[in-house]
Amino acid sequence: MGAKLITTDAYFDGAAHHSEGPYRIRVSDGMIEEVTRNSPDIDDPSVEVIHSPFVMPGLVEGHCHLFLEGGELNFQKRKAHLKSPFVEMLDQARTSMDQNIKSGITLIRDAGDIHGVNTRLKQEIDDHPQSVADLLSPGVAIRKAGRYGSFMGREVTDIDSIVQTVREVAPTASQLKVLLTGIIDFEKGTMKGGNQFTLEETRVIVDTAKDLGLLTYAHCSGEDGLLIAVEAGIDSIEHGFFMTRDILQTMADKQIAWVPTYSPVDLQLQRPELAGWNPETCDRLRTILENHDIHIALAYEMGVPVVAGSDAGSYGVVHGQSLIDELFHLHSAGGSVTDVLVSATSLPRRLWDCPSADVVAGNQANLILLEGSPFEDLENIRHPLGIFRHTWHPFQTEAPTLNL
Ligand SMILES: [Zn+2]
Repeated sequence: MGAKLITTDAYFDGAAHHSEGPYRIRVSDGMIEEVTRNSPDIDDPSVEVIHSPFVMPGLVEGHCHLFLEGGELNFQKRKAHLKSPFVEMLDQARTSMDQNIKSGITLIRDAGDIHGVNTRLKQEIDDHPQSVADLLSPGVAIRKAGRYGSFMGREVTDIDSIVQTVREVAPTASQLKVLLTGIIDFEKGTMKGGNQFTLEETRVIVDTAKDLGLLTYAHCSGEDGLLIAVEAGIDSIEHGFFMTRDILQTMADKQIAWVPTYSPVDLQLQRPELAGWNPETCDRLRTILENHDIHIALAYEMGVPVVAGSDAGSYGVVHGQSLIDELFHLHSAGGSVTDVLVSATSLPRRLWDCPSADVVAGNQANLILLEGSPFEDLENIRHPLGIFRHTWHPFQTEAPTLNL
């Protein structure tokens, strides 16, 4: 594979914005050899030159369910999909993956399905070294018997069954997903049902996972559940609605991540007619989202690791584009463009111990090229020209796929 030269006016390296170009990023055998500024013209005709106004690391989707089509709004069809044959679900997951790639996402953390779809897709991807995107997957999540999460979680009962199930799930889990609470009752603006696990049980989950070398991430909203999650030392809080400043303080102290997944709740507010919400329910949704905004701003200020994740696959939450929407939510809540890009690139990769995609010499090229700078207009992040991973994949001439 010959060397390629990416020329760009500006780039984000994963931590900082570089805006005094032109810059040159020289890539050889898929690796970044050097990044230079104002270097003299080269006239080596064997080097292919690609120009892009802006370059940054491939994006990370921190929370989605690949086996579900988020864009499907028909409740009956969504229900039927959950009973469809495995191959159909796997097909859907591959399509979802392609949608993510089209949005410039090169690392996805799936949040689980009970059918083994995410595990199977991960195997396929890991078996293909030229794959454009990587996948982290939990296999199945764990939940309390009879409680929320039947489409993604295996039931456990007492401490013994918790330990046994975590051990059973571990071999095919990149991280352990725990369903710690129920879901939001949008009409009441409160949580449905109590916590699924006590503090003692949650500690056992975290400790057993840790012994097996697994990080934990918990579906968790509502103050009671959040208190248990942070006290037990869960590594990442997913959703985290009804957040408080005190809980954020503990998260900052323990460096517990927060994946706020605005999109599924925002959809309810944007399209109230779909579920038939009245103005009172819309007010409650608005209050929930405003509380999220306030606490996201605080989280960035207090140094809580905020990770972008959309919960795509959920009702109305489309894979790929929803992660981009999530960046806009984080930004309008108060995160700077740099904050937001860190949340969707370098930070999750570091927290999850994945190879760095930072734009520095010595790293594998895992880049997206944009037609404009997100620092000038965040909208520019919606339209990647392509992905440079192993080689250049221009979206103009190549359908965005996993390349398996
Ligand atoms: Zn989810």
